[in-house]
Amino acid sequence: MNDIIIITVDCWRHDAISKMPKVLDSLEDFQKSKAVCHSPYTAGVFPTLLASNHAWEAFEDGELSDSTFSLPGKLSKLGYSTGGFVAGNPFLNAWADEFDTFWNAGYFTGRVKSNKVKKTVEYLYRLLFQRQEVPAEKVFRKANNWWTNQTSPTFTWIHLMEPHSPYHPGLRRARDIGLVGSYYANLDYKFTEYQTAQSLTKFTQRRVEQLYWECIELLDDKISTFVDKIPENATVLLLGDHGEEFDHGVYGHARLYDETVLVPFLSRWTLSERDFGEPLRQLDLAPTIVNGLDSSLPESWSGKSYSSDFTPAYMWSAPDVGGYIYAGIRTDQFKIIRTFDRDMEPLDLEIYDIKSDPNESDDISQSNPRQSLVNALDNWASEEHNVDFISKKNDYVQDRLEALGYK
Ligand SMILES: [Zn+2]
Repeated sequence: MNDIIIITVDCWRHDAISKMPKVLDSLEDFQKSKAVCHSPYTAGVFPTLLASNHAWEAFEDGELSDSTFSLPGKLSKLGYSTGGFVAGNPFLNAWADEFDTFWNAGYFTGRVKSNKVKKTVEYLYRLLFQRQEVPAEKVFRKANNWWTNQTSPTFTWIHLMEPHSPYHPGLRRARDIGLVGSYYANLDYKFTEYQTAQSLTKFTQRRVEQLYWECIELLDDKISTFVDKIPENATVLLLGDHGEEFDHGVYGHARLYDETVLVPFLSRWTLSERDFGEPLRQLDLAPTIVNGLDSSLPESWSGKSYSSDFTPAYMWSAPDVGGYIYAGIRTDQFKIIRTFDRDMEPLDLEIYDIKSDPNESDDISQSNPRQSLVNALDNWASEEHNVDFISKKNDYVQDRLEALGYK
């Protein structure tokens, strides 16, 4: 059995890959495609990626429910050693018990105690030098040390945070675009409650977007230097968990435009034959892997093994940011988005023809109402989908969430 490696990148927009020449060059033999997300944030995405379930199917009271059958759990039964290596994202602690080895930069063990002074000094240090808290090379090193010491085939999951806010692309890159302005934009972004075209200065809007793209360049450097460490026969899947929005008036990842729910998907597939010509739904990733190993799918999984006939992807975003709930459906041609308030009163309906209008700039809900799709979405949205993702929020976890911009 070949090793399997999934590398997920937080906030990796679908159009970022075209700005990563080194990755494109070093992964020349990889198939380049896209993946469609069912949620615009990490906590909602990983139940689909690691358990082929929507969040509300996989979680109960802030934890994975007993009936959730994860991909690492399945692969472990097939004889794989499993390791998860995360660049410090407390939303992913829920997956710790599913892996033989799990590392989340101390955010799982919670050994480090919260200390306000230390936290502020560390934040200022990282701001000043434009450093990442948990850089990709550290995560790669942990993962690489782990798999080289295993005797059975390995399933490795690596989660990187380079393009996630705070956007710190390193001192040299920040200096290239203007260091003082970068400090200002980082701070303005951090201390703005809901980052929109109205709440951020024009300067900050432009600069955070520049900083994001500098972080993409930083990531390009890091991934390309790691590629030669990957075992040759391994199946390697590299994709975003979700993207990042700059183009529709809100900054961050809460809404359902393709900036946030369409991500790069690069693959070297060494299991039974496969061609990812069309976008893959994230729900279908785990079934496709298990199918590639000629094993049966757990009954609880909602996805199916990849096929080029595109199945609509339903999407959900809870009211953590801005106070709105978003529900969406994405077919190969249309995107329908409903905006609700916290009480699920519908506020807005948007429809885009994503084939002819991939930037989703022309809302056709009046001219082309797509009633059957809207009905399907409304029907689906009427079910309860909101989920509590973290049961034990200690101070340390809270600090990291705040550092990542989640208040
Ligand atoms: Zn994320």
